[in-house]
Parts: sequence; structure tokens; C-alpha cells
Amino acid sequence: MDFEPLILPGVDPARPIIIAGPCSAETEDQVLDTARSVAQSGIKLFRSGIWKPRTKPGGFEGVGTAGLAWLKRVKRETGMYVAVEVATKDHVFESLKAGIDFLWIGARTTVNPFAVQEIADALRGADVPVLIKNPVNPDLELWIGAIERIYGAGLRRIGVIHRGFSSYEKKTFRNPPMWHIPIELRRRLPDIPIFCDPSHIAGKWEFVPALCQQAMDLKFDGLIIETHCQPEKAWSDSAQQITPDALDHILSLLIIRDADGLSKDLSEMRCRIDIIDESLLELLAKRMTISGEIGKYKRSHNMPVLQSSRYSEIIERRAALGESMSLNGDFVRTILKEIHEESVRVQMDSA
Ligand code: PEP
Ligand code: MN
Repeated sequence: MDFEPLILPGVDPARPIIIAGPCSAETEDQVLDTARSVAQSGIKLFRSGIWKPRTKPGGFEGVGTAGLAWLKRVKRETGMYVAVEVATKDHVFESLKAGIDFLWIGARTTVNPFAVQEIADALRGADVPVLIKNPVNPDLELWIGAIERIYGAGLRRIGVIHRGFSSYEKKTFRNPPMWHIPIELRRRLPDIPIFCDPSHIAGKWEFVPALCQQAMDLKFDGLIIETHCQPEKAWSDSAQQITPDALDHILSLLIIRDADGLSKDLSEMRCRIDIIDESLLELLAKRMTISGEIGKYKRSHNMPVLQSSRYSEIIERRAALGESMSLNGDFVRTILKEIHEESVRVQMDSA
């Protein structure tokens, strides 16, 4: 596939390209207040959802087409380019008719080839940049399939947004990033611009700055950051939105390392280490939960917590296993002893 740069006149193509704006348009004042503030920080690309895919019925499902007029006003008054999420052919027709400058396809839509094809057919003949979010599940082929459908409709200004992947278990992040997936996408489609959406990965505004930096270290092209004039009052995704001032501050602290190819490789390796460390911690947490259950069991069966002869034998077996995996046996013994001590403490606490 031969992509063309996203180019919108007047937008600096140097990374990071920043898209900011609220999760949802709520009122004309909220949209305009947020837009004026982010425009003052030099932001040129404004996002705002007007059709909101909600997990369950009954939530705020967006202001719908009424929001298009507010976005036209944003364009007129601030000069920013504006974007909405499209999920059906009608969304596409309405948005193009209203002069919306670029579109994105949401994660809940990318999972559905029928929906993506319907959007692609509606876009045929239009020349508008389209950003495609990853599907909610970690399926790279499905993501690439969506790109192929939009490309197949003749569009060439296509980018992707990495917004993390949903998981059944509650984790630190709302949508764990699984960075190796967008990295693999870049290997497969080296010319496609990649944006990171730290807001939907994080789920909490506190994690947004570090995710922005991580995306920059991995040489992402841009960031799409949910920004709201009063995040605590937002009608959707309140916990993950930041104020325009916070956005300005986060962007001012970003370090953009462009020096050479080496730093990119190093960042990717560091990222792989981060992923492994996260998994190690999750495994340790699971292990400690089981220790707590064992503590309760021993108590209810009148057994002592400590049966250390059993454990010295186990440590030796594990050290041998570690050695067979080229790990240093003493290192394995040290770690396991520490884990065992903590495990005994947890058992005593829960017994
Ligand atoms: C959004 O951008 O507000 C949104 C609905 O995101 P996602 O499709 O990533 O869940
Ligand atoms: Mn949102």
C-alpha cells in the first residue's frame, strides 16, 4: 500500500503531531471553551466525539448532528481542523457535508468488517484523512484489514491510532498498550503515520504524561489526547481527560529523541523490558493472592504456617530449573528466598 502524508496545510508535520479535544461534545460552550484554550497553546487539530459508542444503553450517546454546527464554529473561530468519530455511512455523509476535516474510526468499529466496509463505501471518492483505531482486541490482522478496506475505497491519507487493547482482568491500565503490536504494524506498513491515544490506554489522567513520552521514545508520529475544559464534570471518560493547561504542561516536558536509528532500537528493547516487568509483577501479585488463600486454609485446618524443610527442597529444584534456562542458580535462590519470606508474611497476615 502506498500511503500519502496526512498533510493539512499549516500543520507542522514534525512529530509529535498533536490532536486534542474532549472525549465528547456536550454543549456548545464546553466545546468552544476547550477549543479556544487548546488553540492558544498552538494546537491545530481538534477532536470531539458526537456519536458515542457506549458499552450499555442508557448512557450519554453523544449530541449527534447538533455537534457538527459547534465544530464548524470551532473551525471558524480558531482556525483549527476538526475531527469526529464515524461508525456508520450516515455519520460519514453528515460529516463530509458539514466540512469536517478529518475522521477517525473507533476501536469498537474496527472490530467489525461489515461496519468498516460500509464506512469505506461511503468514503469512496472523498479526499479526507482517516485515522483508524486498533480494534479493542489484540488482533493485528483485523487492524490491517480495516486499513486495507479504507485504502481499497481509494483513500490514501490514512493513519492509525494505537489506543491499547481491552482485557478481562482489571489491570493498571484501562486498555493495556501491548506496544509490540503497533511496533509490528510499523514493521509491516512502515509508511503509515502512527498516533498514540494515551487517554484510552490510561483510563486515568495520572498515567497520560508517561505514556506520551513512551510513545515518543518509540517514534510514534503523533498523539491524540482527550482534553476537556472541566474534566471532572465530563459526561464521558471523566477520569482520563486533562485540562488544556495540563496538556500544555505535558507537551512542554516531552523529550523528542530523533538522533539516530540506534535510539529507536534501544527504546523498543526498553519497551519490551517494561512489558516483561509488568508481567513479572502481575505474576507475583497472583502468587501472593494464592499465599493468602493457603494461609487461610492452614488456619482453618489447624496447620502451622511454616514448613520450611519442604521449601528448601523446592528452592533447590527451582534453581536447577533456572540453570537449565541459562539463569544463574544463586540469583534464582536469592529471588526465591525473598519471595518465600514475603509469602510467609502474607500467610501469617491472612491466617
Ligand atoms: C474515543 O476516542 O472517545 C473513543 C470512543 O475511543 P475508542 O474507540 O478508542 O474506545
Ligand atoms: Mn473517550
